[in-house]
Order: sequence, then C-alpha cells, then structure tokens
Amino acid sequence: MRRRSWFEMVVILALVLPSPAPRGTAQPRVRVVATLTNYGFVAQFIGGPHVDVVSIADGTEDPHFVKPKPSYAVLVQNADLFISTGLDLELWEPALLAKAGNARVMPGSPGYVAAAAGIPLLEVPATASRAEGDIHIYGNPHIYTSPWLMKRVATNIAQGLIRVDSAHRDVYERNLQRFKDEVDRRLFGDALVQMFGGDLLDRLVESGQLISFLQSKTYQGRPLIDRLGGWLKAGLVFRDRKVVCYHKDWVYFATLFGQQIVDYIEPKPGIPPSPQHVAQVIERMQRENVRVLIAAVYFDQGKVRTVAERAGAVPVVIPMGVTAQVPTYWDVVDFWVRSIADAFQARASGHPAVGESGNPVGRVGWMTVLAPEVDDGPGP
Ligand SMILES: [Zn+2]
Repeated sequence: MRRRSWFEMVVILALVLPSPAPRGTAQPRVRVVATLTNYGFVAQFIGGPHVDVVSIADGTEDPHFVKPKPSYAVLVQNADLFISTGLDLELWEPALLAKAGNARVMPGSPGYVAAAAGIPLLEVPATASRAEGDIHIYGNPHIYTSPWLMKRVATNIAQGLIRVDSAHRDVYERNLQRFKDEVDRRLFGDALVQMFGGDLLDRLVESGQLISFLQSKTYQGRPLIDRLGGWLKAGLVFRDRKVVCYHKDWVYFATLFGQQIVDYIEPKPGIPPSPQHVAQVIERMQRENVRVLIAAVYFDQGKVRTVAERAGAVPVVIPMGVTAQVPTYWDVVDFWVRSIADAFQARASGHPAVGESGNPVGRVGWMTVLAPEVDDGPGP
C-alpha cells in the first residue's frame, strides 16, 4: 500500500474530524410563518432560540379577509413551517400557498400545521355549504378565543416543529409543557393546579362541570370554589350572563367562561346585517336585558356604538389577538377578561348609560386603550 501524501492526509482528516463551528454563525433557525399573531406567539414560545417567526395578521385585522401583499408569498416561499387554523378562517390562505409554491408547507406536508387539528369544533353545520353564511362551513374556526384550547394548538405547533427540526425535539417538548403549565396557572390559579393537576382540570373543563364541581365540594371546611384563581375566577362576574356579539367569533370563549350569547349583529358570518335584523337584535337586547355587546376592533365601530346606545348596553370593543398594544397572548386574554368584567361591573354599580359625555362606561375595551387619559386603562 502506497504512503498517503501530506495533501491526502489533510483531506482525510478534514473529512473525519468534526469541524469546529465557525465563530458567530449559529445553526440556521426554523423559519416559521403563522397566519395569525396568536399562533406566532405560541410558535415563538415553543421554538425559543431555534425559530424565526413571522405572523401575517394581528389582532386588529379581520382574519377572514386579509389583503394579500406580495411580501407574504415571499415569506411563505422561504418558510420551513406554515401555521394556519386549517379550516376556512383564513380565506386568503389557498391563494397565498399557491402563489408561494413551496411544496414543503402545503397542507398534508410535514411543514404545514393545522392549529385546529384535534379540537372538537362547535357550530358544525349539518352540511358543509355556504348556505348558512359565506364562511364557517366546517364549524366555528375562531378557536383562539379559548385559552384552554390554545394548549391543543400548542401541541400541534410543537409536533410541527419536531417534524421539521427533530434535533431540537427535547427543547420543543419541554417548552410545550411550560406553555401548558402557564395556561393552567393563568386560567385556574396556582392553588387549584397544585391540588388537582392540569389533567383532572382538563377533564372537568371538557365535561363542562368544573364550576359546578368546585361549587359543590369543600376542602378543609372551605368551598373549593374559593381556591379558584386566574382568568376563570375573574370571569365569575360574567358567568351565566347574557351578551350579544357582533360576529360568530366568541363561542369558544363563551363556552369556557359560561357566557350566554343570545344573538349576533351579523346573523350569518361574513354577510353584512340588514337594518331589519339590527333592529330586531336591539329590541331583543332591551327585552332580555342584555347589557353587554362584544365586538372585535375591526368591525364598524360606529355601528357597534349605535347599537349599544340604542339597546342601553355597554360596547366592549376588543382586539382578537396579539398586537402592538397587547403584545402577548397572555395580555390579550387579560384584556378580554378585564374589559368584559369592567362592562358588567360598570352596569352593576349603576353608572349612567353609555354615550353620555366623559363616561368611561362607554369606552370599555379597545376604546380605553385608544384613550389612555382614562383612569381605568389597561394595567401592565
Ligand atoms: Zn368568523
């Protein structure tokens, strides 16, 4: 066997020895594009330093109708992971994916995450058609209004990250657990989570019996409901209370918090309401003493205010997701719960009706954010 030349030895060593990582060049991150900032927030939480996340629509934009920009197609073209609801929430998604032409993130590919996968949908029509409205043909797609369902969303996103970047499986699984734990503590409060653990609480929420269970049991001589904390405790002030919503986007929140949605300004999702229908809703709000009207910030605020004023109700105008003024999903849910609780408490405390000048009751929710001089603006 001939002796290897010095040059050959260098080449062999270069192939065999692990090459030191060049200083300052980190491993490439997973490029994630999320349709909504709510999903983007979760992806960033789970992915940590291993992901670069860009979200397309924030909580001030109607997720059904996002105006396409050429830059979105470029983002998706270069994405490793694309996160969408996976239903007909993002009506603009098929055109975006077709334009981007990235086979790695098409539905069914490893790089496509359907956030709603595995979530039992509410309001599923008997037949999937456009007859009951232009949208929501598979069931209600606004899953992100329930922080409890976001644990399932986080699981779907973690699985997607593991599919495209299995090297960091441990990190993604650990962060998924952290995310679920944080939801549990913010939703139920520390005491209940320590007492029962998230799994039992999940089963009680799933069966719709959590609150009745806590109200019917005692522990060490005290009713268990006294141990409830977090968003659900804050939401007790509006549990079993009636509300009217603008669009059918609130059913998952209402189910979790036990609110009764008696009607919608927009009777069929995606179809503007007729004046006759609006008049009927106002009449019903007066007849049934419905005191709160919930509307996303992207609907016609003039109409929302007018309906609320005529019905003698408080308009609660809210962003539907993470946005510059409400920069984390935790802040978003804090904002929803506090705005609605404020609206009911404002009514209970006998404030004058909406529309009278300078009355903060008429500015619950987003209007308060936009009017920071009001004392009871959002906290940290
Ligand atoms: Zn909708």
